Order: sequence, then structure tokens, then C-alpha cells
Amino acid sequence: MNAQPSRSEPWNTVNPATGQVLGTYQPASPQAIEAALEAAQTAQLQWAKVSLPQRANVVKGVLQRLQQHAEPLAKCLSEEVGKPLADAVSADLLTALNGLRFVVQQGPKALQTKLIGGWEPLMFGRVYRQQQVPWGVVALISPWNYPVGTPTDSLAAALLAGNAVVFKPSEKTPATGAYLAQLFQEALAAEGFPVALVQCLQGPGAVGATLVEHPTVKRVFFTGSSPVGRWIQERCAALNKPCSLELGGSDPAIVLEGSSPALVDLATSTILNARFMNAGQTCSATKRVWVHHSVYPLFKAQLSAKLAQLRVGDPLDALTHVGPVIDQKQRQGVLAQLNDPALQGVERSEAALPQELPEGHCYVPPTVLWQCPPHAKVWQEETFGPLLPVRTFEALEEVLADCHANAFGLTASVFGPPAAARALALSLPCGQVGVNDAPTVNYALPQLPWRGWKASGPGVRHSVVGLQEWAQPQVWHTVLPTWLLWPYAPKSPWFFGKGASPWQQRWPLARCMALGFPWGSVLGCLNGGLLRFFASNHTGTKL
Ligand code: NAD
Repeated sequence: MNAQPSRSEPWNTVNPATGQVLGTYQPASPQAIEAALEAAQTAQLQWAKVSLPQRANVVKGVLQRLQQHAEPLAKCLSEEVGKPLADAVSADLLTALNGLRFVVQQGPKALQTKLIGGWEPLMFGRVYRQQQVPWGVVALISPWNYPVGTPTDSLAAALLAGNAVVFKPSEKTPATGAYLAQLFQEALAAEGFPVALVQCLQGPGAVGATLVEHPTVKRVFFTGSSPVGRWIQERCAALNKPCSLELGGSDPAIVLEGSSPALVDLATSTILNARFMNAGQTCSATKRVWVHHSVYPLFKAQLSAKLAQLRVGDPLDALTHVGPVIDQKQRQGVLAQLNDPALQGVERSEAALPQELPEGHCYVPPTVLWQCPPHAKVWQEETFGPLLPVRTFEALEEVLADCHANAFGLTASVFGPPAAARALALSLPCGQVGVNDAPTVNYALPQLPWRGWKASGPGVRHSVVGLQEWAQPQVWHTVLPTWLLWPYAPKSPWFFGKGASPWQQRWPLARCMALGFPWGSVLGCLNGGLLRFFASNHTGTKL
């Protein structure tokens, strides 16, 4: 993988279903990047002082605008990616709208300042204030496969937390990226805030790399492939810059012994959708299947029959299930995995392609590879296209060993008798596991933490934990006035158990601390009061 900057010349985007040129784009020049970062930094200083409810109003404005623009935006992304319009609406638009609603509803609570009393014996008498401080200018670098579903709520969370955000959409979906950024800028302007808080910088990986390395960018939020993520992680480590990474996956589905025909029916339908939606270009797609040998014949018969019914075709046709992959480069990469010598002689089932396809189209027939050898690329690597390798197993140990050895750990699914499926789910090394279900579209539920394990992470989006990633906690504290603490009233709380007097040793600090709140604190208080009294009477020491 060459993750280093590579291109600086203009490029075209092409509709992968028709081969027609959609637009020509110019990468952001070094001067444009500098100017964008400077403007973002200036705007952020004021934005950080704006209250959370006011910032939340801007996100509400984005939510309204996204609803109004849902149709043209879905069409724009469908043309750029080649995904069926129905998927553009359900997987991208709905995910984005859910995400925005979550940021509006949960964000202010997750990011609010908290007051914490120091009631524990050691901390008694102090008051703590924990606030979530924005990072400053953050970079959001996005992939092309869900160009609205992936970045929208991240942009919103970045803003809500008080950051300015420099957004680098994929060079394969620049029109969708610019459209989305414009909706954010309109919402900012409508509330009287500077549009410079959301910058959209177009260009190839080189532009993203410049952002990663730029000192004005205080944190990098990246979603994309594992090799690029690893490069970013290495650069950020060298620069002492925090980064959050959502990377690739090679998610297994496991069909257990004892699965009834109804469960096999469920498994084959779910796996078919989880693998072939968006032409197989989903991070959390089911990318390889383990089937217990006892249910393999039924599984094979059912999956083959359903595969034959898949309608591959024009993404703008409402009846289409599977469109093309995004571009020729992607198509060649998938075909290279299919032509892997390790797959010679392996039995295949294919869905039919449309009879007539235009010159330069990017369709790949959805293909199942039966009894795929374990060393085949399609089993070992992430396959970002409509290929599905299947293997049988006798003992679960073999499956578990394979899942633990595999580089990725994004999601998994287990099909079978519920108790056995649940037991296996708990021992799988990944962020989300579906039991008689697939987690492929779980990103649409922002209440859940989205976190890849192993080479699929590290980073967390969504959930309260994910929201708090967009700021860093800072604690400010002080000691309460002494009159509030009588009879305790220490000049310093560090005097427990010190001094020669027996009273000073009676309730040593360790005992009070072990008791904790409330009795440790009560005894600590009494001790403090008695200590003051006796120490001054017996030793003449004024504490
Ligand atoms: P990619 O890694 O090639 O590119 C992603 C983004 O990074 C693009 O904007 C690209 O221009 C930029 N980029 C490339 N090189 C860079 C560099 N050196 N420094 C900074 N930025 C750079 O990925 P892709 O092909 O756009 O997307 C597909 C990948 O994304 C798949 O592996 C998929 O699994 C993964 N993905 C993961 C999730 C998740 O939530 N885990 C979601 C969507 C996609």
C-alpha cells in the first residue's frame, strides 16, 4: 500500500453505472489548505465560547436542511457511488438523520460541565468541576462508500463539542462531500456564526496527509482502509497527536450445528443482504462464512437459489438490488481477488449481470465461492466487492482460532440455536456481534458504540463515549471556605494521622479512606475536629 501523497493534478469523477463523466475537480493547493486552517482556527476561538444549546441549534438547522435536501443528495451520492437509490436513502440518509438527532438529543448532556463534590475522606472539602474542552481544529477524513452516512454525525459532534472541523471527503465522492459541507455552512450562517467553522478540502490522500501532519490540526478522526489508518496512526504517534480510527473489516458469519431449516432460511437471507448490499462495499458487510458441515447442503441450496434472484442493474431503477462497484480501480482489485490462483478449481455460483452494459461499466457479478481455501486472498484480506467465500467446519475450535487469527475485528454474526449462538457470540473478538442477525447496518443506531477491534480500530464513534471523543476533559477544583467545613476546617486535608498525639493516630487516614463515603468522611471529619481541639490543648500545636 502506498499511503504517501501521490496526486496533485485535477481529476474526473465518473458514474460507475454509465461510464459518464460527472465532474472535474481540482485538489486543494497548499495555499488553500493553509488559508482554510487559519480561518478555521480564528473562528474556533469564538465558537468555543458559544453555549451548548446555541451550538445544538446549528445542528438542528442541519437536520432540517438534510430532510429538505434528502432527495437531491441521495441522487448525487447514488450517481457518484453507483449504489441503488433505495440504499442511498436508507443506509446513508437515514443513518445521517438518526445520527444528527442523537447529537442534538444526547450531545449537550454528554458534553455538559459537571460539578463533583469531594466527599471522600482524602478529598473532603474540595469541589471539582469537570468540563469538556474542544480540541480546537480537528480533521475529519472520510471514505466514499457511505459518503453521507459516515461523516454527517461526526461533523455535527465536532461542532457541538466546540471545534472547527476540516472535512476531507473521499476524492471519489467530492460532489456529495461539498453538498454536505454546504448544508452545515448554511446552518451556521443562519444562526449568525462563521461558515469557516466547517471547511471542505477536496483532493486525494495527499490532502488528507497534509492535514494529519499540520500543527493546526489537533486531532485526526479518520474512517477508511486499515493500511491508510496504520500510516496515520504512525504519523500521529510521531507527532504526539491523538487520532481516532475506524478501519476495515473481514467480518465472519457462522452457521452452527443444529440450525433448523427456518434458521438456515434466516441465515441465508440475512447473509445475502449483509454481503451484497452496496455491491459488497460496506465495512461491516459479512465477508466470509463458516457453515457447520451438517447444515451445509441446505445452506448451499438456499443461498444459491436466493443469489439467482438478485437483480443486478441500474442504481436508479427502484427494483435493483445490486449496482456496480465504485470505479475501475475497485473493479480490478475485486477481479484480482477472484482470479487468485488459490481459487483455481473452486466451485462458484454467480448472479446474472444485465444483458447490455455500457463501455467502461464497473459491474462485478455477485459471486459465492464454495469451500474456499483458507489461504485465498478473499478469505485473508478485506474484500470490498460482491464476493462471498464459504467454508465448512466440524469443530467450533477451528472457527474460533480462525476468527482470533484474522487481522480484523469489526463485526460478526452467529446463526443457530439461540443459547449456543449467544455463547459463541461472547467469545468472538470484535466490536459487535449479531445473534441470528447481522450487525451490518448497526451504524445507523447511534446509541451504540461503534468500535472496531484489532486492525479495524482503534476509535469509537456514536454513544455517549463516542460523543465525548470530540472534546477533552479538564478538571478545575478548589477547597470550600473553612466556615462551611466546621468542625473539620483543615488548612490542608493532608494532616490526618500525623503528629505524636494518640488522638492524631486514633483514626488514621487509611482507615477512613477504606471506609469511604459516608462513614469514612464522617469519622474523618470528627477526627479533624477532635484533632484540632486536642492537638492545640495537648501539644500546643495550632493546626
Ligand atoms: P481509503 O483509506 O483509501 O481512503 C479514505 C480517506 O482517506 C479518503 O478520503 C482518502 O483520500 C484519504 N487518504 C488516503 N490516503 C491518505 C493519507 N495518507 N493520509 C490521510 N488521508 C488519506 O479508504 P476508502 O477506499 O475510501 O474506503 C474504504 C475503506 O474504508 C474500507 O476498508 C472500509 O472497510 C473502510 N470503512 C470503515 C468504516 C468503519 O466504520 N470502520 C466505515 C466505512 C468504511
